[in-house]
Amino acid sequence: MPHSTPALTEADRLMTVCNSCRYCEGLCAVFPAMEMKRAFTDGDLNHLANLCHSCGACYHDCQFSPPHEFNVNVPQTLAQVRTESYAHYAWPAAAQPLFARHGMVLALGCVLTFVLFLLGFIALNEPEMLWSAHLEDARFYALMPHNAMVVLFGVAFMWMVFAIFMGARAFWRDAGAPDLSMIDHAHAAHDAARLTYLDGGGAGCFNHDDAPTDRRRLWHHFTFYGFLLCFAATVLGTAYHYLLARSAPYPWWDLPPLLGIAGGIGLVIGPVGLLIAKKRRLEAISTPGFYGMEYGFIVILLLTGVSGLALRVLGETPLLGVLLALHLGAVLTFFLTMPYGKFVHGLYRYLALSRYARDKREIGLG
Ligand code: SF4
Ligand code: SF4
Repeated sequence: MPHSTPALTEADRLMTVCNSCRYCEGLCAVFPAMEMKRAFTDGDLNHLANLCHSCGACYHDCQFSPPHEFNVNVPQTLAQVRTESYAHYAWPAAAQPLFARHGMVLALGCVLTFVLFLLGFIALNEPEMLWSAHLEDARFYALMPHNAMVVLFGVAFMWMVFAIFMGARAFWRDAGAPDLSMIDHAHAAHDAARLTYLDGGGAGCFNHDDAPTDRRRLWHHFTFYGFLLCFAATVLGTAYHYLLARSAPYPWWDLPPLLGIAGGIGLVIGPVGLLIAKKRRLEAISTPGFYGMEYGFIVILLLTGVSGLALRVLGETPLLGVLLALHLGAVLTFFLTMPYGKFVHGLYRYLALSRYARDKREIGLG
């Protein structure tokens, strides 16, 4: 079957080899999902690629991996297909080149938004307020009114949600847009929440020292749940403001700060662990050409976590204004670039897991 890119063509070749071999079928969801097909469309291969966690187990176990002439490197090829699929489905299409330059876009975005927030704080107030806002009752709202924050971040958030929805819709259509039951969603949510298939069939992820570990899953969990806790803190803070007429800042023991602190710690520990884990990964299964996206996503999460915690610890000092500009700049950059970077992998993986659960159910295995 002809394919639209060299990576998809190579993935088709590998899946055909693997479908004859089937040695790795117990390692993850990719191989059982592959076995349900004899021929692969682009949508099928993108589906399989988004089931893969790049644990490296099938590369390590494969008798046909390089230097064998079959040159079977499933993790590297599926990683290439997966990262190209993010760009392929991105909306609008004109934004697709942003994936290849994601690291640079994030760096420029953070610097630009930081400077613009600083200039905005000075333009809206007396310049000296930048260093004295911590003495005001309203603290950060003395620098930027609450409604202005809501409008700015609300618009960015809605744009992000819409763009990601459009990309996910294209991904799902390419996968055949199968009907899903609640059971399929429950299976997918369970596997996504636990990262069931990230452990290489139980051994863990493979590194250049040939000693597999399960830490990559741990760092993913810190990052994912840290992000969710920060999101919950923001939603709860908004409810406090509009429903209970209670404005920030809140004392540290109140629920929004507690959620935010726990989430911020997760967003520091998780990304630092992921950065270290990335350095230790097997070179042979990495995807050259996408390092900016891979590292940029982790670094922006880390910057969000660090600046949020710093704001909590140093928010009653003259550094409030600078830290607020840094934190708001990081969050705004993150929101605006979410549809054009690694963030989409979580949603595409969930959709791939949903289709996998549905396909299994269809043949009586679910
Ligand atoms: S990766 Fe290698 S060992 Fe595993 S199923 Fe494919 S060909 Fe067989
Ligand atoms: S999840 Fe691991 S075992 Fe499965 S295809 Fe990807 S690298 Fe191979």
